[in-house]
Amino acid sequence: MLRAIGNIASLRWRFARQVMLPIGVVALVAIVIAGAGLWWMTQESNHFAIAKQEEKMRRAIAAAVDDLAYEQQSAAQCAPLVRELAKDHPDSAWLDENVGGWLNQMFGHDQVYILDANDVPVYAAVEGAPDPMGAFRKAQPVLAALIDRERGRSPLPNARHSRTSLGTPGPDFTARTRPETVHVSEVAALFGRPAAISVMKISAPKHDVVERPGSAFIMVVVVFLDGRYLHQVAHRNMIDGMRYSSVADPVGGEHLVPLVDEAGGQHGYFMWQPDLPGTKMMRVLVPITIASVSALILALLLLARWLWNSVRALESTVADLQTSEAQAQHLALHDMLTGLPNRALLADRLERARARARRGAMLAVLTLDLDRFKQVNDTLGHHAGDMLIKELGLRLASILQSTDTVARLGGDEFTILLCDIEHDDNIEKVCQRIFAAIQRPFDLAGTNVYVGISIGIASAPVAAIDPSELMRKADIALYCAKAAGRNCHRYFVPSMDEAVKFRRAVEDELRAALARGDELQVHYQPEVSAYTGAIIGLEALLRWNNPTRGTIAPDMFIPIAEESGLITQISEWVLAEAARVALRWPHLFIAVNLSPIQFRSSGLAERTTEIVRSVGCDPTRIELEVTETVLIEDSEQCQTALEALRSAGFRIALDDFGTGYSSLSHLRRFQVDKIKIDRSFTKNIGEGTESTAIVAAVVALGRAMGLTVTAEGVETHDQMRFLAIAGCNQLQGYLFSPALPEDAIAGLLAGQYDAHRAEIAVA
Ligand code: C2E
Ligand code: CA
Ligand code: CA
Repeated sequence: MLRAIGNIASLRWRFARQVMLPIGVVALVAIVIAGAGLWWMTQESNHFAIAKQEEKMRRAIAAAVDDLAYEQQSAAQCAPLVRELAKDHPDSAWLDENVGGWLNQMFGHDQVYILDANDVPVYAAVEGAPDPMGAFRKAQPVLAALIDRERGRSPLPNARHSRTSLGTPGPDFTARTRPETVHVSEVAALFGRPAAISVMKISAPKHDVVERPGSAFIMVVVVFLDGRYLHQVAHRNMIDGMRYSSVADPVGGEHLVPLVDEAGGQHGYFMWQPDLPGTKMMRVLVPITIASVSALILALLLLARWLWNSVRALESTVADLQTSEAQAQHLALHDMLTGLPNRALLADRLERARARARRGAMLAVLTLDLDRFKQVNDTLGHHAGDMLIKELGLRLASILQSTDTVARLGGDEFTILLCDIEHDDNIEKVCQRIFAAIQRPFDLAGTNVYVGISIGIASAPVAAIDPSELMRKADIALYCAKAAGRNCHRYFVPSMDEAVKFRRAVEDELRAALARGDELQVHYQPEVSAYTGAIIGLEALLRWNNPTRGTIAPDMFIPIAEESGLITQISEWVLAEAARVALRWPHLFIAVNLSPIQFRSSGLAERTTEIVRSVGCDPTRIELEVTETVLIEDSEQCQTALEALRSAGFRIALDDFGTGYSSLSHLRRFQVDKIKIDRSFTKNIGEGTESTAIVAAVVALGRAMGLTVTAEGVETHDQMRFLAIAGCNQLQGYLFSPALPEDAIAGLLAGQYDAHRAEIAVA
C-alpha cells in the first residue's frame, strides 16, 4: 500500500516534469507570442495611422498657406487694383467690393490689409467689412516680420511657400502662384489663433502699370486656421475632435502637431483624438485571442488529463502485471490451498541444505501422512478435507522455526525440512510437538474431528545426503510408521530399505502367481456350533505356496496385495472359489474376508453378487467378513455397499471385533449379522485379565442386539467351555481345526469331529 502511494507520488512528479512542464512552457510561450504580436501589431498600426494623420495635417496646413497665396493672387495681381491704388484717394467702396469683400466672400479670408510703400495701411477689412485699423494695429507685431521679408528687408531665404526678390525658390517649393508673383506666405499665431498669412506685392500682371521697386503697395491676407477651416480639414481627413491650443495640453491620448513656420518657430498646436486602427483591431482581436489561447490551454489540459489517465492506467496495468507475475511466481513455488512451499520449493531448499550438510551440518526430512484424511474427505466432504489440510498446515508451520520448511506435496502429504540440527533430540522434540498439535481436535465447520499422523524421518548425513535419497528414505520410514499403527514416527534404518525391497519383490511375485494361478490356494477353516460342536460353516483363508520362499502367510502378503491394488483381483478369485465350495456343502455357510480397500471402489456389491451368482450360488450362503475399519471409514459409499450386499442376501460379519473402535453405534447403524471376537481376547481368557470380563460383556451385548457371536482362535478346552457358557453361538480355532484344503475338509466332515461333539454335549 505504502509502495503504491510512493509510486503514485513519483509518477505524479515525473508526469509534472515530463509532460505538464513542457505543456506549461508551450502554453506560456504561445500566450507571450500572441500577446506580444498583438501588442506590436497594435503599436505599429497605430503609429502608422497617426503618422499618416499627422502628415495629412501638415499637408493640410501647407495647402492652406499655398491656397491662401493662390487665392490672394487673384486680387493682388490685378491691374484695376494697381490703378485704384495709384489714385490719391482710392475708392474704399471699390476696395471693399473688389478686395476685402470679394476675398472674404469668395475664399473666406478673414482679414485683408493693403499697405503703402511705407507699410502704412491704406485699407483694412475684417470678416469682409471695412475695419477702422484697430485690428491691424493689434496684428502688426506678428505681420511685421513677414512684411519685412516681402520687402527684402529680412535676410531669411525663400522656402516652400514664399517667393521674394532675395532668391530663387527652394527645391521643396509648393506655392502655385505665378512665377513673377512676389509673396511671403506663412503660418503664425494671430490674436492667439492659428493663422495662414500671406503678404503679397500688388502688381499688374500685364505690366501695363509700372511700379518702382520698394515703393509698391502690398496686400496682407489672413485666414484663421481654427474654427470653420479646422472643421473642414478634420472633416475631409476624417479626424475627430480637432482643436487648436497655444500650449501643448493634450488630454485623453490626444495627438498634437505643432504649427511651425518656415524658420522653425512654433505657434501653438493642433490636437485631436487620433484614429487608432490598431487599438480598434486589438479590441476585436484580444477577445478572439484570449478565446483561442483559452481553447488551446483547455485542449492542452484535456490532453494532459487524458495522458495522465492513460499513464495511470498504464502504470496500474504494469503494476498488475508485476503483481500477477509475483503471484504466478508465488503460485509456482507454493501450494494453493495452504500457501505453504510446494514440492518445487522444497526441492530447492533441500538442494541448498545439501551444501550445508556437506559442510557437516545435520538436517532431517520428515514426511507426514494423516491417518484419517480420506475418511474426513469422504464423510464430511472435500471442503472439510480442505479445511483440515489448511488448519494442519497452520499448526505445523506454527511449531517450526523460521529456518525450517514445511511443504505440502499434495493430498495429506506434508514434508518438513529441519535445518542445522544440533542434536538428535531436536528431531524427537519436533515430532512430539507435531503429535501434540495433532492431538487437539480439528473444528471442521462445527464438527470436531480427531486425526492421527504418521511420521517418517531420514536425516543427513546419516541416512543420505542426496535430497531425493533423503526423501525416499523418509518415505520408507513413513511407510513403516504407518504399518506400525496410529500416531507413530519411525527413523529410517537400512533394514527398512531391505524390507521395502523385499515387499517389492513379493509384490512382483504375487502378480506373477496370480497370473499363473497355481501357487495360490484357498483353505477352509471350520466354524462350529457352540451348542452342538457340529461344523456349521467354513472361513475361506488364502494360502500362497511360493516356490522359492515356501508358504507365505496372508498377514504378510495381504497388506502388499492391498497396497498394490492386487487385492480386488485376489478377493474375487477367492470369492468364486468359496462360492463353488458352498455348492459342494449346501448345509454349511462359507465366510469370505473382504478387504477395506475393496470398499473404496464403487460397484463392490454388484461385482460380489455377480461372481457368486455366476457359479450358481445363492448369496444367502455366503458370509462376508469386514473389519471395523470399513465401518469407521463411515463413508456413504461403504454404507451403500454394505446395504446393497445385505439386501442381495449376503450376511455381514464384523471381523476382529474388539481390536478397533468397537463402537456400538457402528453396529447399530450398519446392521451387521454377526460379530467375531478377535482371537487376542480368546487367548487371554481365564488368565485373570480384563479379557475375560470383556469377552463376557461383548457376548452379552451382541446377543442382546440379536447378533450371532463367534469367538476366534479357540485353542483350548477351557476357552471353549468359557465361551460356550458365556453365550457364544459359534466357535472357530485350532482346537477344532486349522484352515485346510478343500479335500481335507471333506474328510473332516466325514466324521473326524465326532469326539469333540460328545465333549461339547457334556459341557
Ligand atoms: P482372520 O480373518 O482373522 O482369519 C483368522 C486367522 O486366524 C487365520 O489366519 C487363521 O489361520 C487364524 N487362526 C484360526 N484359528 C486360530 C487359533 O486357534 N489360534 C491362532 N493363533 N490363529 C488361529 P491366516 O489364515 O493366517 O489369516 C490371517 C489373516 O489374513 C486373516 O485374519 C485375514 O484377515 C487375512 N486373510 C486371509 N485370507 C484372506 C482372504 O482371502 N481375503 C482377505 N481379504 N483377507 C484374508
Ligand atoms: Ca476372517
Ligand atoms: Ca479374525
